[in-house]
Amino acid sequence: MNPDRYAVIGHPVQHSRSPFIHARFAAQTGQSIAYSTIDATPEGFEAAAREFFAGGGKGLNVTIPHKEAAACLVDQLTPRAQRAGAVNLVAVRSGSLLGDNADGAGLVRDLVANHHVNIAAHGILLLGAGGAARGIIAPLLERKPRELIIVNRNVDRARELAQRFADLGPVRAMGYDQLEATPHDLVINATATSLAGTLPPLPPAIIDARTICYDLAYGKDGTTFSRWAQHLGCARSLTGLGMLVEQAAESFELWRGVRPLTDSVLRELTAQMHG
Ligand code: NDP
Repeated sequence: MNPDRYAVIGHPVQHSRSPFIHARFAAQTGQSIAYSTIDATPEGFEAAAREFFAGGGKGLNVTIPHKEAAACLVDQLTPRAQRAGAVNLVAVRSGSLLGDNADGAGLVRDLVANHHVNIAAHGILLLGAGGAARGIIAPLLERKPRELIIVNRNVDRARELAQRFADLGPVRAMGYDQLEATPHDLVINATATSLAGTLPPLPPAIIDARTICYDLAYGKDGTTFSRWAQHLGCARSLTGLGMLVEQAAESFELWRGVRPLTDSVLRELTAQMHG
């Protein structure tokens, strides 16, 4: 029997670690799956996703820049995907498409379980208001941080998100030009800048020796943002490899009904990154 087919769809997507992670999860749990990548431009996203499912595909991970488009593509949304207005995970359920969002669960699990960060003790500065930011705001606010400030280049998008999540806790929005040059406890970079090797326009004084920095992006030898934060003497500079593995575990569980263990896969990936 042919293995069930899954894929990650994005643009760009060729360097994705998701095929490796899901192959490891499948081997660990004895599941028979095939996992590939689909590179689709924003114009080609809907057609490519529909073609994948029409051909018998069982599930998709959705990555940059398609998470908001994927929320429109599916037939039903889980409550957390509805809350986010963004989908990073699609499963076939009784012949229709179910959209979920595991980004926030992945990030919170990485921060709390893998890095022992007590979110409730911190004020959070969140950089970015795109598809990834949408998925992580509610799970962060559920951990009761002192405050969450969303900063975005397009300030209207940040304001829209602050309104969307205002019932969950203290959250406000601003542009980079309004950001005060004072230190923050936890700075989370959910912009796409590290992918381009650049930085958001940030005053260095937002970081001091107590600041924990987390870049959702990851890369060999860190990211532009993680290196910048380290250079400024932050307490810890973390990158998104753990989030990637943890959200992948959520995807695998939704698709296959079995929860894989993440620590050995994360160790292996980390070694590859530093090897
Ligand atoms: P989107 O394209 O949806 O959003 C991009 C965001 O980056 C927007 O807020 C955009 O601002 C901002 N941005 C882009 N360029 C700049 C710039 N030059 N200066 C300031 N802000 C900028 O992307 P996603 O939200 O899907 O992904 C964001 C990042 O998170 C990517 O690096 C992605 O790889 C990573 N990610 C990692 C995951 C993991 O598991 N580790 C999971 C999900 C995402 P504006 O609105 O003004 O255009």
